Amino acid sequence: MNLPITVNGAPMTSLADLQFDNRFARLGDTFSTRVVPEPLSNPRLVVSSEDAMALLDLDPAEAQTEIFTELFSGRQIWSAAEPRAMVYSGHQFGVYNPQLGDGRGLLLGEVVNSRGEYWDLHLKGAGSTPYSRMGDGRAVLRSSIREFLASEALPALGIPSSRALCVTVGDDPVYRERQERGAMLLRLARSHIRFGHFEYFYYTRQHDALRQLIDFTLQTCYPHCQQDAEPVLAMFREVARRTMHMIARWQAYGFCHGVMNTDNMSILGITFDFGPYAFLDDYDAGHICNHSDHAGRYAFHRQPAIAHWNLACLAQALTPFVEVDQLKAELATLIPLYQAQYLHLMRTRLGWASAQPEDEQLLQQLLQQMQDSASDYHITLRLLAEDDPAARDQFIDRAAFDGWLRQHQARQALDTSALAGRLACNPVYVLRNYLAQQAIEAAEQNDFAEVRHLHQLLRQPFTRQPGREAYAAPPPDWGRRLEISCSS
Ligand code: AMP
Ligand code: MG
Repeated sequence: MNLPITVNGAPMTSLADLQFDNRFARLGDTFSTRVVPEPLSNPRLVVSSEDAMALLDLDPAEAQTEIFTELFSGRQIWSAAEPRAMVYSGHQFGVYNPQLGDGRGLLLGEVVNSRGEYWDLHLKGAGSTPYSRMGDGRAVLRSSIREFLASEALPALGIPSSRALCVTVGDDPVYRERQERGAMLLRLARSHIRFGHFEYFYYTRQHDALRQLIDFTLQTCYPHCQQDAEPVLAMFREVARRTMHMIARWQAYGFCHGVMNTDNMSILGITFDFGPYAFLDDYDAGHICNHSDHAGRYAFHRQPAIAHWNLACLAQALTPFVEVDQLKAELATLIPLYQAQYLHLMRTRLGWASAQPEDEQLLQQLLQQMQDSASDYHITLRLLAEDDPAARDQFIDRAAFDGWLRQHQARQALDTSALAGRLACNPVYVLRNYLAQQAIEAAEQNDFAEVRHLHQLLRQPFTRQPGREAYAAPPPDWGRRLEISCSS
């Protein structure tokens, strides 16, 4: 008897046998344009993710094959794939840009796995498209590695995100602030539809196409909303809630996105389009991780308000089909919803079971002390979770911290049921900018070991791994406040 080979219970597929069903492509030329990828020359595999491969039922060993590198460097393509550049627009830094779109990435097609899940295969850095404007359609190795690492590290922390299957690099020179090398990232997501897709059809007054896009999104991403008396409103409600839930997780884990333009906001409420993102090192509520963001529009503490602003842009684009007052009523619920979710996450991290009226104030006091002392955000919370007295060393005003700690311990003593769960939600390892930078510098010298190592380490962020103590340390002086450029 021939039994199918399985990985973790799921049947295994070979790359050649991936099942494509390109639903978005079938919407036609109003929504995307057929474009053939421009291949990399002399491509090599930099890193691949076995977890992402498992989403497609792929055997991780296939990453070692030549065809894997050929497919993900644009040199070969499945006959059933249908590469297309999607059109969208969006608000960038608060200003409407009427024409964006996939300028350097292509939706290769939609793969259906053995569980019937659809996954978009999107090849980023695949060359110029009708939406490239002045750009070269390329992505550099540096930014591709950064997106890869974040795409796989965030889900391991419980933060919803697009995923990354692999990065390949070629010999092709690409010119940014300096000469770099072209690379490609294979991104996976259940959908690549952004808030900006809806804005494009709304502002070009193509309301029939907008309706088609809404119906497509309802069918493919929010099928359960179709039964609602007001399906479009129900979908907006869910997008909004998922988005605020994602933001609560960003804030709880110290993640700063850096470029929260509406074209970088996924309709699935997942973290999307990684640019100059950063995890905080020392706690600084006003941290700006994108050095082109002079006004601090996307500073860490502004992310909840910006998400709300972006959702208002999406709501505006839905006004041909939903009453404005209904959308406004939905928007009015979001900041309180975010605050409750954020507080819940922080309570869990601190081991405070069940809500108490003083929680918000007690949390604010801790954050203020961290801000005043420039305490390392992750180390402080992990030490507190381990009941390690060394937490005190993170603070300059020890007496103030001692006072807070007494209240914290009294708070924990009210109900000790949440204490045991703390280690599973306070990471030891975080994708700090300097760790990514070290891996990138080695990769630029064709040594990919550190990228692969860091990726593996971040798959288990909550478990101390012997011999890996250095990765849990605060950044060295050179690695603090690295300036990450927007050009990628
Ligand atoms: P991003 O800042 O990566 O979210 O990109 C914003 C817009 O610029 C999107 O429409 C991208 O497709 C486009 N874009 C960014 N970089 C390039 C590039 N090197 N070549 C062509 N288009 C690009
Ligand atoms: Mg983008």
